[in-house]
Amino acid sequence: MGRHTFRYRLDDAFFACFPEGDIRQADVTVDLTLERTERLMRLDFDFAGRFKTVCDRCLNELDCPVAFQDEVIVRFTADTEGKEDEDNLWWVEEHRDKLDLSQYLYETVALQRPIQMFCPEDEAGRSTCNAAVVERMGASQPTEPTGALSEDNLAVLRKLKNV
Ligand SMILES: [Zn+2]
Repeated sequence: MGRHTFRYRLDDAFFACFPEGDIRQADVTVDLTLERTERLMRLDFDFAGRFKTVCDRCLNELDCPVAFQDEVIVRFTADTEGKEDEDNLWWVEEHRDKLDLSQYLYETVALQRPIQMFCPEDEAGRSTCNAAVVERMGASQPTEPTGALSEDNLAVLRKLKNV
């Protein structure tokens, strides 16, 4: 019962548990204020920090700042069966004394990366992407004849045949 505060530090070791994400060199601090009453628990999160990701066009490394707040309400119930969690409204069985926040923390930080992220434009509005990489990636797609197999694909096929 009452009010408690916690601080979490999300670094590379934390994000290494979620290899599907493209988050690296992470340093995010999460301040959590937890207020518990008889029937529910209010979690106030304050995320601050940064991580690195890569440009979707040229693979240059980009800095992704993290600064936002989020709130989750946990409702206690005798039985969670048939009760669906909503985005920030969870059901938890009342006898449980631990709440695993790692999946939530991971997803919430990962969502800070826009679906598409590119290098910033300069003052003249020109892309600062690595032109050589963009050209190489752009050229390799349309000029490749359909049905052609790249070396990588061939390697995979060879491997499959040996299984
Ligand atoms: Zn770029």
